[in-house]
Amino acid sequence: MLTRREAIAGFGALGTQLILPRAGSAQEPPYLLSEWTGDSFAPMHAIRDGLWRAPLPAPERRVEVAIIGGGLAGLAVATLLKDRDLLVLERESEPGGVAKSGRWRNVDYALGSAYIVDLSEPFGAFYEMLGLGPRPVSDPVDRVMTGTAGEGDPREGEWRSAYEDLKALLRRLGESRDFPKIPIAEASQQALALDGLSLLDFLRREHIDARLLGLLDSYCLSALGAPTANISAYAGVNFLSEINTPIYAFPGGNAAIARAMAARLSQAGEGRVVTGAAVYAIEPAEGGYARIGWFDVRNPEELRCLETRWAVVAAPYFFSGRILRGVDPAATAKMTSLRQGSYLVANCCFEGPPTELPYDNWALGAQSFCDAVSGTAALPSAERPKDQSVLTVYAPFRDPRVGRERLLAGDRADFAAPIIEELRRFLPETFGGARLTEVRLTRWGHHHLIAAPGIVTTMRALPKRFGNVLLAHSDGQGMPAVESAIVEARNAVEIIKRG
Ligand SMILES: Cc1cc2nc3c(=O)[nH]c(=O)nc-3n(C[C@H](O)[C@H](O)[C@H](O)COP(=O)(O)OP(=O)(O)OC[C@H]3O[C@@H](n4cnc5c(N)ncnc54)[C@H](O)[C@@H]3O)c2cc1C
Repeated sequence: MLTRREAIAGFGALGTQLILPRAGSAQEPPYLLSEWTGDSFAPMHAIRDGLWRAPLPAPERRVEVAIIGGGLAGLAVATLLKDRDLLVLERESEPGGVAKSGRWRNVDYALGSAYIVDLSEPFGAFYEMLGLGPRPVSDPVDRVMTGTAGEGDPREGEWRSAYEDLKALLRRLGESRDFPKIPIAEASQQALALDGLSLLDFLRREHIDARLLGLLDSYCLSALGAPTANISAYAGVNFLSEINTPIYAFPGGNAAIARAMAARLSQAGEGRVVTGAAVYAIEPAEGGYARIGWFDVRNPEELRCLETRWAVVAAPYFFSGRILRGVDPAATAKMTSLRQGSYLVANCCFEGPPTELPYDNWALGAQSFCDAVSGTAALPSAERPKDQSVLTVYAPFRDPRVGRERLLAGDRADFAAPIIEELRRFLPETFGGARLTEVRLTRWGHHHLIAAPGIVTTMRALPKRFGNVLLAHSDGQGMPAVESAIVEARNAVEIIKRG
Protein backbone atom coordinates (compact mmCIF):
# COMPACT_ATOMS: atom_id res chain seq x y z
CA MET A 1 0.00 0.00 0.00
CA LEU A 2 1.21 3.52 -0.73
CA THR A 3 2.02 5.80 2.14
CA ARG A 4 0.39 9.21 2.00
CA ARG A 5 3.75 10.81 1.23
CA GLU A 6 4.28 8.49 -1.76
CA ALA A 7 0.79 9.16 -2.99
CA ILE A 8 1.35 12.90 -2.91
CA ALA A 9 4.84 12.87 -4.32
CA GLY A 10 4.65 10.49 -7.19
CA PHE A 11 1.29 8.97 -7.91
CA GLY A 12 -1.84 10.58 -6.49
CA ALA A 13 -3.91 12.25 -9.17
CA LEU A 14 -2.07 10.49 -11.93
CA GLY A 15 -2.03 7.00 -10.47
CA THR A 16 -5.16 5.96 -12.29
CA GLN A 17 -7.07 7.22 -15.26
CA LEU A 18 -8.46 10.55 -14.19
CA ILE A 19 -12.22 10.84 -13.96
CA LEU A 20 -13.25 7.59 -12.41
CA PRO A 21 -16.48 6.19 -13.78
CA ARG A 22 -19.14 5.73 -11.20
CA ALA A 23 -21.84 3.12 -11.05
CA GLY A 24 -24.97 4.77 -12.47
CA SER A 25 -26.73 6.47 -9.61
CA ALA A 26 -30.50 6.30 -9.50
CA GLN A 27 -30.61 9.57 -7.58
CA GLU A 28 -30.80 12.90 -9.31
CA PRO A 29 -27.77 15.03 -8.41
CA PRO A 30 -28.66 17.95 -6.12
CA TYR A 31 -27.49 20.42 -8.74
CA LEU A 32 -28.48 21.20 -12.30
CA LEU A 33 -26.35 19.52 -14.93
CA SER A 34 -26.11 21.48 -18.18
CA GLU A 35 -25.84 20.12 -21.71
CA TRP A 36 -22.32 19.74 -23.12
CA THR A 37 -20.37 22.65 -24.50
CA GLY A 38 -17.01 22.42 -26.29
CA ASP A 39 -16.31 20.24 -29.29
CA SER A 40 -19.20 18.97 -31.35
CA PHE A 41 -17.89 15.63 -32.52
CA ALA A 42 -20.30 14.92 -35.39
CA PRO A 43 -18.82 17.08 -38.21
CA MET A 44 -15.28 15.83 -37.67
CA HIS A 45 -16.45 12.22 -37.49
CA ALA A 46 -18.34 12.69 -40.77
CA ILE A 47 -15.05 13.87 -42.31
CA ARG A 48 -13.06 11.03 -40.72
CA ASP A 49 -15.61 8.48 -41.91
CA GLY A 50 -15.34 9.33 -45.60
CA LEU A 51 -15.99 12.96 -46.49
CA TRP A 52 -12.29 13.74 -46.65
CA ARG A 53 -12.19 11.73 -49.88
CA ALA A 54 -15.33 13.33 -51.36
CA PRO A 55 -14.89 15.34 -54.58
CA LEU A 56 -15.27 19.11 -54.41
CA PRO A 57 -18.27 20.70 -56.12
CA ALA A 58 -17.80 23.76 -58.36
CA PRO A 59 -16.68 26.84 -56.41
CA GLU A 60 -19.43 29.31 -55.50
CA ARG A 61 -17.20 32.26 -54.77
CA ARG A 62 -13.63 33.44 -54.68
CA VAL A 63 -11.82 35.25 -51.82
CA GLU A 64 -8.29 36.46 -51.34
CA VAL A 65 -7.69 34.72 -48.00
CA ALA A 66 -9.67 31.79 -46.55
CA ILE A 67 -8.86 30.88 -42.96
CA ILE A 68 -9.84 27.44 -41.78
CA GLY A 69 -10.50 27.50 -38.03
CA GLY A 70 -11.51 30.48 -35.91
CA GLY A 71 -9.51 29.78 -32.76
CA LEU A 72 -7.02 32.35 -31.47
CA ALA A 73 -4.59 31.61 -34.31
CA GLY A 74 -7.18 31.88 -37.10
CA LEU A 75 -8.72 34.99 -35.59
CA ALA A 76 -5.26 36.55 -35.20
CA VAL A 77 -4.50 35.95 -38.89
CA ALA A 78 -7.83 37.53 -39.80
CA THR A 79 -7.31 40.49 -37.46
CA LEU A 80 -3.85 41.20 -38.81
CA LEU A 81 -5.21 41.06 -42.38
CA LYS A 82 -8.53 42.66 -41.60
CA ASP A 83 -8.52 44.96 -44.60
CA ARG A 84 -8.20 42.08 -47.09
CA ASP A 85 -11.04 40.19 -48.74
CA LEU A 86 -11.14 37.29 -46.29
CA LEU A 87 -13.36 34.64 -44.82
CA VAL A 88 -12.93 32.57 -41.65
CA LEU A 89 -14.61 29.15 -41.78
CA GLU A 90 -15.26 27.85 -38.26
CA ARG A 91 -17.02 24.56 -37.62
CA GLU A 92 -18.41 25.47 -34.18
CA SER A 93 -21.28 27.87 -33.56
CA GLU A 94 -18.90 30.43 -32.10
CA PRO A 95 -15.27 31.36 -32.81
CA GLY A 96 -12.55 31.20 -30.13
CA GLY A 97 -11.53 27.52 -30.29
CA VAL A 98 -10.46 26.42 -26.83
CA ALA A 99 -10.50 30.08 -25.72
CA LYS A 100 -14.24 30.46 -25.18
CA SER A 101 -16.17 31.53 -22.13
CA GLY A 102 -19.58 31.16 -20.56
CA ARG A 103 -21.56 33.33 -18.17
CA TRP A 104 -23.55 32.28 -15.13
CA ARG A 105 -25.60 35.10 -13.60
CA ASN A 106 -22.99 37.88 -13.66
CA VAL A 107 -19.88 35.71 -13.50
CA ASP A 108 -17.79 35.04 -16.61
CA TYR A 109 -15.92 31.76 -16.62
CA ALA A 110 -13.53 30.01 -19.00
CA LEU A 111 -14.50 26.89 -20.94
CA GLY A 112 -10.82 26.17 -21.55
CA SER A 113 -7.90 28.55 -21.92
CA ALA A 114 -7.56 30.73 -18.82
CA TYR A 115 -4.51 32.97 -18.48
CA ILE A 116 -1.46 34.40 -20.23
CA VAL A 117 2.09 34.84 -19.02
CA ASP A 118 4.13 36.69 -21.60
CA LEU A 119 3.63 40.39 -22.25
CA SER A 120 6.99 40.88 -23.94
CA GLU A 121 7.20 41.60 -27.68
CA PRO A 122 5.35 40.77 -29.85
CA PHE A 123 2.64 39.63 -27.41
CA GLY A 124 2.21 42.77 -25.31
CA ALA A 125 1.90 44.96 -28.41
CA PHE A 126 -0.65 42.55 -29.87
CA TYR A 127 -2.90 42.79 -26.78
CA GLU A 128 -2.47 46.54 -26.79
CA MET A 129 -3.50 46.72 -30.45
CA LEU A 130 -6.66 44.82 -29.44
CA GLY A 131 -7.37 47.37 -26.71
CA LEU A 132 -6.87 44.78 -23.97
CA GLY A 133 -5.15 45.67 -20.72
CA PRO A 134 -4.08 42.34 -19.19
CA ARG A 135 -4.19 42.54 -15.39
CA PRO A 136 -1.84 40.52 -13.18
CA VAL A 137 -3.60 38.03 -10.96
CA SER A 138 -3.21 39.19 -7.39
CA ASP A 139 -1.53 37.10 -4.70
CA PRO A 140 -1.98 34.36 -3.74
CA VAL A 141 -1.90 33.23 -7.35
CA ASP A 142 -2.05 29.56 -6.48
CA ARG A 143 -1.87 26.98 -3.73
CA VAL A 144 -1.39 23.26 -3.40
CA MET A 145 -3.92 21.26 -1.38
CA THR A 146 -3.35 17.76 -0.07
CA GLY A 147 -6.97 17.06 0.81
CA THR A 148 -6.19 16.52 4.47
CA ALA A 149 -7.92 18.87 6.91
CA GLY A 150 -5.58 21.30 8.62
CA GLU A 151 -2.65 20.66 6.28
CA GLY A 152 -1.24 23.72 4.56
CA ASP A 153 0.45 24.12 1.21
CA PRO A 154 3.45 21.75 1.32
CA ARG A 155 5.46 24.28 -0.70
CA GLU A 156 5.32 26.51 2.39
CA GLY A 157 6.25 23.65 4.69
CA GLU A 158 8.08 20.41 4.08
CA TRP A 159 8.83 21.15 0.42
CA ARG A 160 9.92 24.70 0.92
CA SER A 161 13.61 24.39 0.19
CA ALA A 162 13.03 21.90 -2.66
CA TYR A 163 10.58 24.33 -4.27
CA GLU A 164 13.02 27.23 -3.81
CA ASP A 165 15.70 25.13 -5.56
CA LEU A 166 13.35 24.55 -8.49
CA LYS A 167 12.55 28.25 -8.71
CA ALA A 168 16.25 29.13 -8.58
CA LEU A 169 17.01 26.66 -11.39
CA LEU A 170 14.25 28.14 -13.55
CA ARG A 171 15.37 31.67 -12.77
CA ARG A 172 18.93 30.83 -13.78
CA LEU A 173 17.73 29.26 -17.01
CA GLY A 174 15.44 32.21 -17.69
CA GLU A 175 18.37 34.59 -17.51
CA SER A 176 20.37 32.59 -20.03
CA ARG A 177 20.30 33.24 -23.76
CA ASP A 178 19.68 29.54 -24.18
CA PHE A 179 16.38 29.55 -22.36
CA PRO A 180 13.85 27.46 -24.31
CA LYS A 181 11.26 29.83 -25.67
CA ILE A 182 8.45 30.65 -28.06
CA PRO A 183 9.02 31.30 -30.98
CA ILE A 184 10.86 28.02 -31.43
CA ALA A 185 12.53 29.38 -34.59
CA GLU A 186 14.78 31.40 -32.26
CA ALA A 187 15.86 28.43 -30.13
CA SER A 188 19.59 28.06 -29.50
CA GLN A 189 21.29 24.69 -29.97
CA GLN A 190 21.58 24.36 -26.18
CA ALA A 191 17.88 24.97 -25.72
CA LEU A 192 17.08 22.53 -28.51
CA ALA A 193 19.18 19.89 -26.79
CA LEU A 194 16.59 19.92 -24.01
CA ASP A 195 13.91 18.87 -26.47
CA GLY A 196 15.43 15.40 -26.80
CA LEU A 197 15.12 14.85 -23.06
CA SER A 198 12.00 14.20 -21.05
CA LEU A 199 11.27 16.82 -18.42
CA LEU A 200 11.53 14.10 -15.81
CA ASP A 201 15.07 13.19 -16.90
CA PHE A 202 16.03 16.84 -16.95
CA LEU A 203 14.69 17.43 -13.42
CA ARG A 204 16.54 14.37 -12.18
CA ARG A 205 19.72 15.52 -13.89
CA GLU A 206 19.37 18.84 -12.09
CA HIS A 207 18.79 17.03 -8.76
CA ILE A 208 15.34 18.47 -8.23
CA ASP A 209 13.82 16.87 -5.13
CA ALA A 210 11.66 13.89 -6.13
CA ARG A 211 8.97 14.95 -3.67
CA LEU A 212 7.99 17.70 -6.12
CA LEU A 213 7.37 15.31 -8.99
CA GLY A 214 3.71 14.57 -8.20
CA LEU A 215 2.95 18.30 -8.34
CA LEU A 216 5.02 18.86 -11.48
CA ASP A 217 3.22 15.92 -13.12
CA SER A 218 -0.09 17.60 -12.38
CA TYR A 219 1.12 20.94 -13.78
CA CYS A 220 2.31 19.25 -16.98
CA LEU A 221 -0.72 17.06 -17.46
CA SER A 222 -2.98 20.08 -17.08
CA ALA A 223 -0.99 22.40 -19.37
CA LEU A 224 0.96 20.20 -21.79
CA GLY A 225 -1.08 17.01 -22.02
CA ALA A 226 1.07 14.45 -20.16
CA PRO A 227 3.12 13.99 -16.98
CA THR A 228 6.82 14.96 -16.81
CA ALA A 229 8.05 11.58 -18.09
CA ASN A 230 6.28 12.17 -21.42
CA ILE A 231 6.95 15.87 -21.90
CA SER A 232 9.81 17.50 -23.77
CA ALA A 233 12.16 19.23 -21.31
CA TYR A 234 12.15 22.22 -23.71
CA ALA A 235 8.37 22.57 -23.47
CA GLY A 236 8.36 21.76 -19.76
CA VAL A 237 10.99 24.31 -18.78
CA ASN A 238 9.35 26.94 -20.97
CA PHE A 239 6.04 26.31 -19.22
CA LEU A 240 7.36 25.91 -15.66
CA SER A 241 9.22 29.22 -15.87
CA GLU A 242 5.90 30.90 -15.13
CA ILE A 243 6.20 29.94 -11.46
CA ASN A 244 8.65 32.84 -11.16
CA THR A 245 6.59 35.39 -13.06
CA PRO A 246 3.21 37.10 -12.73
CA ILE A 247 0.31 35.64 -14.66
CA TYR A 248 -2.45 37.71 -16.27
CA ALA A 249 -6.10 36.81 -16.55
CA PHE A 250 -9.23 38.35 -17.99
CA PRO A 251 -12.69 37.62 -16.57
CA GLY A 252 -13.79 34.52 -18.48
CA GLY A 253 -10.18 33.71 -19.41
CA ASN A 254 -8.59 34.02 -22.82
CA ALA A 255 -11.96 34.21 -24.55
CA ALA A 256 -11.51 37.95 -23.98
CA ILE A 257 -8.71 37.88 -26.59
CA ALA A 258 -10.92 36.02 -29.06
CA ARG A 259 -13.80 38.43 -28.49
CA ALA A 260 -11.57 41.48 -28.98
CA MET A 261 -10.35 40.05 -32.30
CA ALA A 262 -13.85 39.14 -33.46
CA ALA A 263 -15.00 42.69 -32.63
CA ARG A 264 -12.21 44.25 -34.70
CA LEU A 265 -13.02 41.96 -37.57
CA SER A 266 -16.67 42.85 -37.62
CA GLN A 267 -15.79 46.56 -37.46
CA ALA A 268 -13.82 46.00 -40.66
CA GLY A 269 -16.76 44.32 -42.40
CA GLU A 270 -19.67 42.05 -41.52
CA GLY A 271 -20.00 38.36 -42.33
CA ARG A 272 -16.30 37.52 -42.37
CA VAL A 273 -16.57 34.74 -39.83
CA VAL A 274 -18.82 31.92 -41.01
CA THR A 275 -19.68 29.62 -38.10
CA GLY A 276 -21.02 26.08 -38.43
CA ALA A 277 -18.77 25.67 -41.50
CA ALA A 278 -16.67 22.47 -41.42
CA VAL A 279 -13.88 22.15 -43.96
CA TYR A 280 -13.35 18.63 -45.30
CA ALA A 281 -10.77 19.20 -48.04
CA ILE A 282 -8.23 21.71 -49.34
CA GLU A 283 -6.72 21.12 -52.76
CA PRO A 284 -4.65 23.00 -55.32
CA ALA A 285 -6.54 24.63 -58.21
CA GLU A 286 -5.59 26.27 -61.51
CA GLY A 287 -4.16 29.79 -61.71
CA GLY A 288 -2.46 29.77 -58.30
CA TYR A 289 -5.66 29.27 -56.35
CA ALA A 290 -6.67 26.67 -53.78
CA ARG A 291 -10.11 25.16 -53.38
CA ILE A 292 -11.76 24.62 -50.05
CA GLY A 293 -14.47 21.98 -49.68
CA TRP A 294 -16.78 22.61 -46.75
CA PHE A 295 -20.26 21.93 -45.47
CA ASP A 296 -22.73 23.59 -43.16
CA VAL A 297 -22.85 21.36 -40.06
CA ARG A 298 -26.65 21.73 -40.03
CA ASN A 299 -26.79 20.35 -43.55
CA PRO A 300 -23.85 17.97 -44.04
CA GLU A 301 -25.36 16.43 -47.18
CA GLU A 302 -24.80 19.59 -49.20
CA LEU A 303 -21.12 20.00 -50.04
CA ARG A 304 -19.90 23.51 -50.84
CA CYS A 305 -16.74 24.98 -52.30
CA LEU A 306 -14.88 28.26 -52.46
CA GLU A 307 -11.73 29.30 -54.23
CA THR A 308 -9.00 31.33 -52.57
CA ARG A 309 -5.70 32.96 -53.37
CA TRP A 310 -4.36 32.00 -49.90
CA ALA A 311 -5.61 29.23 -47.66
CA VAL A 312 -4.52 29.50 -44.03
CA VAL A 313 -5.15 26.33 -42.08
CA ALA A 314 -5.57 27.26 -38.42
CA ALA A 315 -7.00 23.90 -37.32
CA PRO A 316 -5.00 21.37 -35.28
CA TYR A 317 -2.32 19.64 -37.37
CA PHE A 318 -3.87 16.31 -36.56
CA PHE A 319 -6.95 17.41 -38.60
CA SER A 320 -5.09 19.53 -41.13
CA GLY A 321 -3.01 16.56 -42.26
CA ARG A 322 -6.20 14.72 -43.11
CA ILE A 323 -7.87 17.45 -45.11
CA LEU A 324 -4.88 18.72 -47.10
CA ARG A 325 -4.72 17.10 -50.53
CA GLY A 326 -1.75 16.94 -52.87
CA VAL A 327 0.97 17.61 -50.28
CA ASP A 328 4.10 15.60 -49.48
CA PRO A 329 2.81 12.34 -47.92
CA ALA A 330 5.73 12.38 -45.46
CA ALA A 331 4.54 15.72 -44.09
CA THR A 332 0.96 14.44 -43.92
CA ALA A 333 2.10 11.34 -42.06
CA LYS A 334 4.00 13.46 -39.53
CA MET A 335 1.03 15.74 -38.97
CA THR A 336 -1.49 12.98 -38.50
CA SER A 337 0.79 11.10 -36.13
CA LEU A 338 0.93 13.96 -33.61
CA ARG A 339 -0.76 12.97 -30.38
CA GLN A 340 -3.60 15.00 -28.95
CA GLY A 341 -4.90 15.03 -25.40
CA SER A 342 -8.51 15.02 -24.34
CA TYR A 343 -9.96 17.20 -21.66
CA LEU A 344 -12.98 17.75 -19.50
CA VAL A 345 -13.66 21.12 -17.89
CA ALA A 346 -16.39 21.45 -15.27
CA ASN A 347 -17.67 24.88 -14.33
CA CYS A 348 -19.26 24.69 -10.90
CA CYS A 349 -21.67 27.52 -10.13
CA PHE A 350 -22.21 28.51 -6.49
CA GLU A 351 -24.95 30.65 -5.04
CA GLY A 352 -24.24 32.46 -1.79
CA PRO A 353 -21.33 34.39 -0.34
CA PRO A 354 -18.19 33.28 -2.20
CA THR A 355 -15.12 32.04 -0.38
CA GLU A 356 -11.98 34.01 -1.14
CA LEU A 357 -9.74 31.52 -2.94
CA PRO A 358 -6.37 31.80 -4.63
CA TYR A 359 -6.71 31.94 -8.42
CA ASP A 360 -5.50 28.37 -9.11
CA ASN A 361 -6.03 25.55 -6.59
CA TRP A 362 -4.05 22.35 -7.18
CA ALA A 363 -5.56 19.20 -5.68
CA LEU A 364 -2.69 16.84 -5.13
CA GLY A 365 -3.77 13.23 -4.97
CA ALA A 366 -7.25 13.94 -6.38
CA GLN A 367 -8.37 11.27 -8.84
CA SER A 368 -10.91 13.22 -10.81
CA PHE A 369 -9.25 16.58 -11.54
CA CYS A 370 -5.95 18.47 -11.41
CA ASP A 371 -6.83 22.01 -10.45
CA ALA A 372 -9.66 24.45 -9.97
CA VAL A 373 -9.50 28.08 -11.04
CA SER A 374 -11.56 30.69 -9.25
CA GLY A 375 -13.04 32.83 -12.02
CA THR A 376 -13.68 35.73 -9.66
CA ALA A 377 -10.12 35.77 -8.28
CA ALA A 378 -9.09 37.33 -11.60
CA LEU A 379 -11.17 40.39 -10.70
CA PRO A 380 -10.07 43.21 -8.37
CA SER A 381 -11.71 42.69 -4.92
CA ALA A 382 -14.12 45.59 -5.39
CA GLU A 383 -15.51 44.08 -8.59
CA ARG A 384 -16.08 40.57 -7.25
CA PRO A 385 -19.73 39.49 -7.03
CA LYS A 386 -21.05 39.24 -3.48
CA ASP A 387 -23.44 36.31 -3.79
CA GLN A 388 -22.26 34.05 -6.59
CA SER A 389 -19.07 32.43 -7.83
CA VAL A 390 -17.85 29.89 -10.36
CA LEU A 391 -15.02 27.40 -10.00
CA THR A 392 -13.49 26.15 -13.25
CA VAL A 393 -12.29 22.61 -12.67
CA TYR A 394 -9.64 21.22 -15.06
CA ALA A 395 -9.78 17.46 -15.58
CA PRO A 396 -7.45 16.29 -18.36
CA PHE A 397 -7.45 12.59 -19.18
CA ARG A 398 -4.26 10.71 -18.60
CA ASP A 399 -5.12 8.34 -21.45
CA PRO A 400 -6.45 10.58 -24.25
CA ARG A 401 -8.04 7.72 -26.19
CA VAL A 402 -9.99 6.45 -23.20
CA GLY A 403 -10.94 10.05 -22.48
CA ARG A 404 -12.31 10.55 -25.99
CA GLU A 405 -14.35 7.36 -25.78
CA ARG A 406 -15.84 8.44 -22.48
CA LEU A 407 -16.49 11.99 -23.68
CA LEU A 408 -18.20 10.65 -26.78
CA ALA A 409 -20.37 8.29 -24.70
CA GLY A 410 -21.01 11.43 -22.72
CA ASP A 411 -22.61 10.39 -19.44
CA ARG A 412 -22.51 13.79 -17.80
CA ALA A 413 -23.64 12.67 -14.34
CA ASP A 414 -20.85 10.12 -14.16
CA PHE A 415 -18.31 12.84 -14.92
CA ALA A 416 -19.73 15.39 -12.50
CA ALA A 417 -20.30 13.21 -9.41
CA PRO A 418 -16.68 12.25 -8.57
CA ILE A 419 -15.49 15.79 -9.27
CA ILE A 420 -18.00 17.26 -6.85
CA GLU A 421 -17.20 14.61 -4.27
CA GLU A 422 -13.51 15.49 -4.42
CA LEU A 423 -14.13 19.23 -4.50
CA ARG A 424 -15.96 18.80 -1.20
CA ARG A 425 -12.87 17.10 0.21
CA PHE A 426 -10.21 19.40 -1.24
CA LEU A 427 -12.06 22.73 -1.10
CA PRO A 428 -14.59 22.25 1.73
CA GLU A 429 -14.62 25.99 2.43
CA THR A 430 -16.23 26.61 -0.97
CA PHE A 431 -19.31 24.72 0.18
CA GLY A 432 -19.40 26.50 3.57
CA GLY A 433 -21.77 29.39 3.02
CA ALA A 434 -22.60 28.76 -0.64
CA ARG A 435 -24.72 26.18 -2.44
CA LEU A 436 -23.61 24.40 -5.61
CA THR A 437 -26.52 25.01 -7.95
CA GLU A 438 -25.26 24.05 -11.38
CA VAL A 439 -22.44 22.13 -13.06
CA ARG A 440 -21.62 22.98 -16.68
CA LEU A 441 -19.45 20.48 -18.51
CA THR A 442 -17.22 21.20 -21.49
CA ARG A 443 -15.50 18.52 -23.54
CA TRP A 444 -12.41 18.87 -25.67
CA GLY A 445 -11.84 15.76 -27.77
CA HIS A 446 -8.54 16.46 -29.51
CA HIS A 447 -7.52 19.83 -28.27
CA HIS A 448 -4.22 19.54 -26.51
CA LEU A 449 -1.16 18.79 -28.59
CA ILE A 450 0.93 16.58 -26.33
CA ALA A 451 4.32 18.25 -26.04
CA ALA A 452 6.24 14.95 -26.10
CA PRO A 453 10.05 14.76 -26.16
CA GLY A 454 11.25 15.76 -29.64
CA ILE A 455 8.13 17.82 -30.41
CA VAL A 456 9.98 21.11 -30.94
CA THR A 457 12.46 19.50 -33.31
CA THR A 458 9.58 17.86 -35.21
CA MET A 459 7.65 21.10 -35.53
CA ARG A 460 10.71 23.07 -36.63
CA ALA A 461 11.34 20.54 -39.40
CA LEU A 462 7.75 20.29 -40.63
CA PRO A 463 6.95 22.44 -43.69
CA LYS A 464 4.36 25.08 -42.92
CA ARG A 465 3.86 26.21 -46.46
CA PHE A 466 2.57 24.14 -49.37
CA GLY A 467 2.39 26.64 -52.24
CA ASN A 468 -0.39 29.03 -51.31
CA VAL A 469 -1.61 26.88 -48.41
CA LEU A 470 -0.12 27.95 -45.08
CA LEU A 471 -0.36 26.26 -41.70
CA ALA A 472 -1.03 28.58 -38.76
CA HIS A 473 -2.16 26.70 -35.68
CA SER A 474 -0.58 26.87 -32.22
CA ASP A 475 0.49 23.24 -32.75
CA GLY A 476 3.20 24.66 -35.02
CA GLN A 477 5.19 25.75 -31.94
CA GLY A 478 4.88 22.33 -30.32
CA MET A 479 3.35 23.78 -27.16
CA PRO A 480 -0.33 24.51 -26.51
CA ALA A 481 -0.26 28.18 -25.50
CA VAL A 482 -1.75 31.49 -26.53
CA GLU A 483 1.73 32.73 -27.45
CA SER A 484 2.10 29.80 -29.86
CA ALA A 485 -1.14 30.78 -31.62
CA ILE A 486 0.00 34.40 -31.99
CA VAL A 487 3.46 33.47 -33.30
CA GLU A 488 2.03 31.08 -35.89
CA ALA A 489 -0.52 33.67 -37.03
CA ARG A 490 2.14 36.34 -37.44
CA ASN A 491 4.36 34.01 -39.46
CA ALA A 492 1.53 33.24 -41.91
CA VAL A 493 0.59 36.91 -42.19
CA GLU A 494 4.17 37.86 -42.98
CA ILE A 495 4.22 35.41 -45.90
CA ILE A 496 0.90 36.69 -47.24
CA LYS A 497 2.00 40.33 -46.92
CA ARG A 498 5.20 39.55 -48.80
CA GLY A 499 2.96 38.11 -51.51
C1 LIG B 1 -8.56 23.17 -21.41
C2 LIG B 1 -7.45 24.04 -21.97
C3 LIG B 1 -6.91 25.05 -21.18
C4 LIG B 1 -5.88 25.85 -21.68
N1 LIG B 1 -5.39 26.86 -20.90
C5 LIG B 1 -4.43 27.68 -21.39
C6 LIG B 1 -3.98 28.81 -20.63
O1 LIG B 1 -4.46 29.07 -19.52
N2 LIG B 1 -3.01 29.60 -21.17
C7 LIG B 1 -2.47 29.35 -22.40
O2 LIG B 1 -1.59 30.10 -22.88
N3 LIG B 1 -2.91 28.30 -23.15
C8 LIG B 1 -3.88 27.49 -22.67
N4 LIG B 1 -4.36 26.46 -23.44
C9 LIG B 1 -3.79 26.31 -24.79
C10 LIG B 1 -4.18 27.49 -25.71
O3 LIG B 1 -5.34 28.11 -25.28
C11 LIG B 1 -4.31 26.98 -27.10
O4 LIG B 1 -3.06 26.46 -27.52
C12 LIG B 1 -4.73 28.07 -28.09
O5 LIG B 1 -5.86 28.79 -27.65
C13 LIG B 1 -5.04 27.36 -29.39
O6 LIG B 1 -5.46 28.28 -30.37
P1 LIG B 1 -5.52 27.82 -31.88
O7 LIG B 1 -6.25 28.84 -32.64
O8 LIG B 1 -4.17 27.44 -32.32
O9 LIG B 1 -6.35 26.46 -31.85
P2 LIG B 1 -7.81 26.04 -31.46
O10 LIG B 1 -8.28 26.73 -30.26
O11 LIG B 1 -7.68 24.56 -31.47
O12 LIG B 1 -8.69 26.51 -32.67
C14 LIG B 1 -8.84 25.76 -33.84
C15 LIG B 1 -10.18 26.08 -34.42
O13 LIG B 1 -10.33 25.39 -35.64
C16 LIG B 1 -11.66 24.89 -35.74
N5 LIG B 1 -11.62 23.78 -36.67
C17 LIG B 1 -10.97 22.61 -36.53
N6 LIG B 1 -11.15 21.82 -37.61
C18 LIG B 1 -11.94 22.53 -38.45
C19 LIG B 1 -12.46 22.25 -39.73
N7 LIG B 1 -12.21 21.11 -40.34
N8 LIG B 1 -13.24 23.19 -40.31
C20 LIG B 1 -13.49 24.37 -39.70
N9 LIG B 1 -13.03 24.67 -38.48
C21 LIG B 1 -12.25 23.77 -37.87
C22 LIG B 1 -11.99 24.51 -34.30
O14 LIG B 1 -13.37 24.42 -34.07
C23 LIG B 1 -11.34 25.64 -33.53
O15 LIG B 1 -12.20 26.72 -33.33
C24 LIG B 1 -5.39 25.65 -22.98
C25 LIG B 1 -5.94 24.63 -23.77
C26 LIG B 1 -6.97 23.83 -23.28
C27 LIG B 1 -7.56 22.75 -24.14
